[in-house]
Amino acid sequence: MTLQPENWQETKKILVVLAHPDDPEFFCGATLARWARAGHQITYALLTCGDKGFNPATSPGMTPEKLCAIRRVEQNNAARVIGARAVHFLDREDGYVVADLNLRRDLVRVIRRETPDILVTCDPQNLFAMYGINHPDHRACGQATLDAVFPAANNVAYFPELLAEGFQPHMPKEVWCSLTNQPNVTIDVTEFWEIKMKAILEHKTQVQDVEKLIERMKSRRTEDSTDEAPRFEEKFRVVRYG
Ligand SMILES: [Zn+2]
Repeated sequence: MTLQPENWQETKKILVVLAHPDDPEFFCGATLARWARAGHQITYALLTCGDKGFNPATSPGMTPEKLCAIRRVEQNNAARVIGARAVHFLDREDGYVVADLNLRRDLVRVIRRETPDILVTCDPQNLFAMYGINHPDHRACGQATLDAVFPAANNVAYFPELLAEGFQPHMPKEVWCSLTNQPNVTIDVTEFWEIKMKAILEHKTQVQDVEKLIERMKSRRTEDSTDEAPRFEEKFRVVRYG
């Protein structure tokens, strides 16, 4: 038996907390597809519905309200392709996410409600992503999520009002940060790359040129790839608790 990088013996409950529709698929969609097909239970919690993800100059008539409704549908379709079971939205405004105490409380509530074994988010320290400046929502989401995990989620002294709502302390066993420049776990996701691409293409409002996107994503193959045998990886900074 080959040792899998996750080393999970039983079925895991996995909660993915990211900022926008399409973040789960772009950041770690192939890994999520791999986990779903291994029988793990995946739920998304997205902070925004990506309502500013359009260019008013080239999309006359589009409004944040209209786009929000469309992107919720797109995200549900993409999640279905990946194999995720549910998508929740926290209804923050796109582009204005701040890692404040209100967001931290909301995320502690989500963690205590969903009681995940594994929590997936993104690395808040990634200021310069591969395409330029990392979106501030990504950084704020990663920061607020890590702050919610530790020390708040598992400590009754934090946000006692959540206890009154019936949410007991809970600690995920592992936190997986995608979109990181300091990875300590690499997953070979070659087998699941096609599913990732199919899910990404469900975000139709975000894909202007399908061919160009497919080419761009192909260029992410590993250096030891050949045209006959391309290989793809997704990398994470993983923190394990006990
Ligand atoms: Zn994003």
